[in-house]
Amino acid sequence: MIIIKVIDYHVHSDNSFDGKSDIDSTCQESIKKEVQEICFTEHFSVDPRDVSFGVLDYSKYTCEINEARKKYKKYLLIKKGLEIGEPHLAEYSEELKNFLGGTDLDFIIGSVHNINGVKLRLFMKNKKKYHIYQEYFEEIYKMAETADIDVIGHLDMMKRYAYAEHGNYHIEDHSGIIQNILEKIIQRKIGLEINCSGLNHDVNEIYPKVEILKWYKELGGEILTVGSDSHRSESIASKNGEIMEMVKKMGFQYIYTYESRKRTPFYL
Ligand SMILES: [Zn+2]
Ligand SMILES: [Zn+2]
Repeated sequence: MIIIKVIDYHVHSDNSFDGKSDIDSTCQESIKKEVQEICFTEHFSVDPRDVSFGVLDYSKYTCEINEARKKYKKYLLIKKGLEIGEPHLAEYSEELKNFLGGTDLDFIIGSVHNINGVKLRLFMKNKKKYHIYQEYFEEIYKMAETADIDVIGHLDMMKRYAYAEHGNYHIEDHSGIIQNILEKIIQRKIGLEINCSGLNHDVNEIYPKVEILKWYKELGGEILTVGSDSHRSESIASKNGEIMEMVKKMGFQYIYTYESRKRTPFYL
């Protein structure tokens, strides 16, 4: 059996509007589970329509990270990141740039949680299945084109909301836009996050689905991160080990870790 050291690059603490555990208890739980490295990725948005707008206190977040780094230095590598919602919106680009200019982040996930300022679960109301998924992927493409991010977060998370009413999507139905997204991120050296949280949901698969990872690999993509998207300490890295093994079996030799937004391969 192959034993891979587990890392988790998508973790929320109570610095996020929906996080339940504090940084200290999240680190303690990670150490208990023998996780080697975690990156906190707190929700952040400069769009006043988003639920996380104005929630993050960046200096408090930084203090807590620094304290945890000191306290757990021997046992756990701790990185400071953000999950930024819709980082591509032109109307807020100056504010975002100014904010990021004053930060010392290790890692940034770009995520689409809203389309035109409307939450995904509301955006899909009264729309046909094809349009729900297609318009979601089109929004991801806009983010891939311009945003200053390290990875695309939970690509295809639309299925989490659309699954109950419309079922999962077939990649062939959206192959053009998905290929465009993958080509764009490969060209811009933006990575793809494998988000394990879909395994705890009815949809029961990772975001993005395995077929997309295969396309990404065929196109020459190789920048992957793995995250649990945990919002409470108990769920830290719960599926990361098995997904890292799966990625290795797919022929990827490494995933990536980040420091000061520079990536380093983490060999599998
Ligand atoms: Zn998210
Ligand atoms: Zn998240």
